[in-house]
Amino acid sequence: AYNFNAGPAAIPLEVLQQAQEQFVDYQGAGMSIMEMSHRSTFYEQVNNETQDLMRELFQIPENYHVLLLQGGASTQFAMLPMNLLTPGKVGAYVQTGAWADKAIKEAKVIGEMAVAASTASDSFMRVPRLDEIVVPENAAYLHVTSNETIGGTQFHEFPDTGSVPLISDMSSDILSRPVDIGKFGLIYAGAQKNLGPSGVTVVIIRDDLAADSPKSIPAMLRYDTHAKAKSLYNTPPSFSVFMMKLVLQWIKGKGGVAQLDQLNRDKTGLIYDAIDGSGGFYKGCAHTDSRSIMNVTFRMANEELEKLFVKQSEAEGFVGLKGHRDVGGLRASTYNAVTLESCQALAQFMKEFQQKNG
Ligand code: PLP
Repeated sequence: AYNFNAGPAAIPLEVLQQAQEQFVDYQGAGMSIMEMSHRSTFYEQVNNETQDLMRELFQIPENYHVLLLQGGASTQFAMLPMNLLTPGKVGAYVQTGAWADKAIKEAKVIGEMAVAASTASDSFMRVPRLDEIVVPENAAYLHVTSNETIGGTQFHEFPDTGSVPLISDMSSDILSRPVDIGKFGLIYAGAQKNLGPSGVTVVIIRDDLAADSPKSIPAMLRYDTHAKAKSLYNTPPSFSVFMMKLVLQWIKGKGGVAQLDQLNRDKTGLIYDAIDGSGGFYKGCAHTDSRSIMNVTFRMANEELEKLFVKQSEAEGFVGLKGHRDVGGLRASTYNAVTLESCQALAQFMKEFQQKNG
């Protein structure tokens, strides 16, 4: 299948095959990794290697922890304000769409929230310019959603927030491009788009922010618990972490994140070119300078035509091109594991569909 699913999403074929080989008997231990104690040397090595690879590939400085947690990015929407939104401060949020809204909703449950910038008046079809973002003086942090998976917009540069920690939900673009980690206080991402199967959530957090969570928070929801325990406080999602390790090794084998960045631009370039060269038959949703290199969103003249596009694409082996149910339209998610060949095939299909139906 040409898998353009938004998440859970494609995993590199080589990784699936490698996992299959090791599925029953992990490194001659006579059992699967998922049957082993998480306190075993085998698993401890998987845990360490995964964190080390993440550090190496994403160039994470020494003064950050890499945490492997559970609960998805949705739990981070709550854990972040629980840990960092102290009384008298406000959590500042850049409102760019559906996922930013979910983060905002959870912050309101915990404490005071302020919108530092919003593109609601543009139907969230762009991210704000940096000069539109106003960080309140008493901000505990500034939260951005680096890539809005549903709208198909992406930040191409990040604000300088000085002493206010910059936080990013990078669920749908982590490891798709190099990022200056030093600009951020905390980055989080569910694994199921660019890192492997669902079940593990990555949190990259600067040491000082993980040092001392408020005493009122239960152990599992405190960053300091997991930082101190090197992500082995309780039973981890061991199989998902193992798969993530294989995906990271695959990224390393591909030459690293800078190489994938170029490839991702080439991939989405093919689809955006098909949109822009269609004379208006396909209409890109996001403003050009806010276009995502992970989720390409577009529309056609009417819903009937869009339905026909989805139906015929499915018959040709394309999966996941229907837009999110909240916004409709069409969406091609082109995460790291989606091949250039899949994108070439989609661009070709789009041209042929236009010839028949234009
Ligand atoms: N944030 C973004 C940008 C997402 O795309 C998603 C899921 O698609 C989430 C958060 C929610 O992630 P999870 O399902 O891991 O809670």
